[in-house]
Amino acid sequence: MATAAISPDVLAKYEPVIGLEVHVQLLTASKIFCGCANKFGSAPNTNVCPVCLGLPGALPVLNAKAVEFATLAALALHCTVNERSIFARKNYFYPDLPKGYQISQYDKPLAEHGWIAVPTADGATKRIGITRLHMEEDAGKSLHEGFADSATRTYLDLNRCGTPLVEIVSEPDIRTPDEAFEYLTRLKEILLYTGVSDCNMEEGSLRCDANVSVRLRGAERFGTKAEVKNVNSFRFIRAALEYEIERQVEILESGGRVAQETRLWNANEGRTYSMRSKEQAHDYRYFPEPDLPPLIVSEEFLKRKRTELPELPEARRARMIAEYDLTAKDAQTLTASREFADRFEEAAKTAKNPRRVANVLLSEVGGRLNALGLDHDRSPVSMTGIVLAADLLDEDKISSRQMKQLFDIAFEKGEDFGVVYEREKPQQITDASALEKLIDEVIAANPKQVEQYRAGKKTMAGFFVGQVMRASKGQANPALLNELVTKKLEG
Ligand code: ADP
Ligand code: ZN
Ligand code: MG
Repeated sequence: MATAAISPDVLAKYEPVIGLEVHVQLLTASKIFCGCANKFGSAPNTNVCPVCLGLPGALPVLNAKAVEFATLAALALHCTVNERSIFARKNYFYPDLPKGYQISQYDKPLAEHGWIAVPTADGATKRIGITRLHMEEDAGKSLHEGFADSATRTYLDLNRCGTPLVEIVSEPDIRTPDEAFEYLTRLKEILLYTGVSDCNMEEGSLRCDANVSVRLRGAERFGTKAEVKNVNSFRFIRAALEYEIERQVEILESGGRVAQETRLWNANEGRTYSMRSKEQAHDYRYFPEPDLPPLIVSEEFLKRKRTELPELPEARRARMIAEYDLTAKDAQTLTASREFADRFEEAAKTAKNPRRVANVLLSEVGGRLNALGLDHDRSPVSMTGIVLAADLLDEDKISSRQMKQLFDIAFEKGEDFGVVYEREKPQQITDASALEKLIDEVIAANPKQVEQYRAGKKTMAGFFVGQVMRASKGQANPALLNELVTKKLEG
């Protein structure tokens, strides 16, 4: 695993402490305080108005949909939603923030005291606390590259100004870079299930700042933390944390002190650089936003939002394992997205044996797609085709060897399984005397295995079934073959 990058000696002596701050853009149609479209990829500065440009006299009006999404996210993360929360101005000057302040929430956030369950290295689960979830607006974008005069000029695109965000701050409960990776994976999964964000990191819909410190094992107080910004994938977060932990331990081991600072991750070099120290830290001079009233969330509204929560990934996995007799690993793969899990469950309902549908979907189809580097939505085989394959197998109308051959053809020609099956209609040997002849040959050729079987090793039957199946080129009817092999061996 990736933590192997940190030497075991270091981890025996020092304990990393990690807390994550995650910004998530909400999938509302319009922005948080105005009617402008909330859309990625429009021509620069086309989704703007006096409110999100911060022109004098323009007044913000809170988008109800943003509150609904933020509340759904808070409930899905087991947070307590405050009946009354307050918007505040966070003041700082930056060209992509034309108002000169960001409307955020400060001492009275929308929600607090939540948690996410993450699997640990030893197979247990651990709860990572969520300190708070608050609402705020996004800033615009400074474009430093891509223009003929980029060497001397910076361009501004203010389309992103006023995009609704939630910031989700974790407790310093995370202890390894792998745990941080798991936390982010679970968080993203939950947000995708609730449908409040597309969590697209390339487009900046989900952004993460990582806080990390180290302390001697057994020490009570936390060490001084560094905050790492500008990391745009979960894998890079893990790498950046590993780098930081090593860096901080080296400082301590050589008798130095870790500086409290903000650092930037450089993906090309695989290391972090100091961006600003604590002395240069902003004083945001927060104060309550005078243009917005307190946000009141009624008990009735909360009740409604609770009923709107979908079944969340954890619960869904547990139910699917029980209902379809799945392995934990298969359940994890099947629930990776809500859409994929829905497609599987709809199909499984129509099949004779849901577990077999899972096997065919993940091993036969998933395996071939993986090898081709394709997603399930690019599969030539439909769910109907997968159910057909599973049912045919289940009814012994085809052998698994024949099924594999049919899938090979389907993938080769880009055809659905049903089409291939109808055309190829694989032969089956259902004539007992023909099968008996093949069995007799295999038994005669393998006296040692016969002896083992008769000495009590009943699992040897599988060996004979396999040999005859091969001799029949996969055409033996599996049920009949099983029955006859046992009869012959016993006889
Ligand atoms: P700041 O005042 O620097 O913003 P906060 O207390 O608000 O710090 O915490 C910001 C994030 O840093 C949270 O996710 C928190 O869990 C984490 N954090 C706080 N102290 C530490 C520490 N000593 N080591 C690692 N992470 C920490
Ligand atoms: Zn606007
Ligand atoms: Mg803070």
